[in-house]
Amino acid sequence: MMRTAADVSFTLTRKNVKNINLRVTERGVFVSAGRHVPLAAVDGFVAQKADWIQKALQRIAARKKNINAEAAPPACQCEAIFAPFVAQVWELFHDRMEQKPKIKVKHIKSAWGICHFKDGYITLAARLANMPPAAIEYVVLHEFVHFFEPNHGAGFHKMMAQFMPDYQARRKLLK
Ligand SMILES: [Zn+2]
Repeated sequence: MMRTAADVSFTLTRKNVKNINLRVTERGVFVSAGRHVPLAAVDGFVAQKADWIQKALQRIAARKKNINAEAAPPACQCEAIFAPFVAQVWELFHDRMEQKPKIKVKHIKSAWGICHFKDGYITLAARLANMPPAAIEYVVLHEFVHFFEPNHGAGFHKMMAQFMPDYQARRKLLK
């Protein structure tokens, strides 16, 4: 049962417990109470702890945010992380490109990767190192394809699909 007391919404379950128990998790506030504890007492208990609960919820939200924004490893480590993916994609391209593009790692937020097709290098965002391997492969391939298809037109998508049939699904991993 979902209830609200003192602006705190919580899920109440009745259990064979003597008193009232409270748990604050990522999924919300959970209260268990003995079958004979009146609702007014449950609500009073939650209201009394409302400040503590709000703080606990804020802490959980902040922790979650931090996991996403966690500082990416320093650039040298990122390069080591990206190297096998770049080597893998290069295998697909080496016979159609004159030179292996240089890879630069930068702390950029506006994009996961940038292809400098005129200058022959690719910039990868350091934070990409925190993403799943399937997503890293997608970005590296995406930037390589830009050497042939600078825009995201039909030709670009055709080439992506040719090398990575599930590229659309992988792209969603970055959202
Ligand atoms: Zn692009």
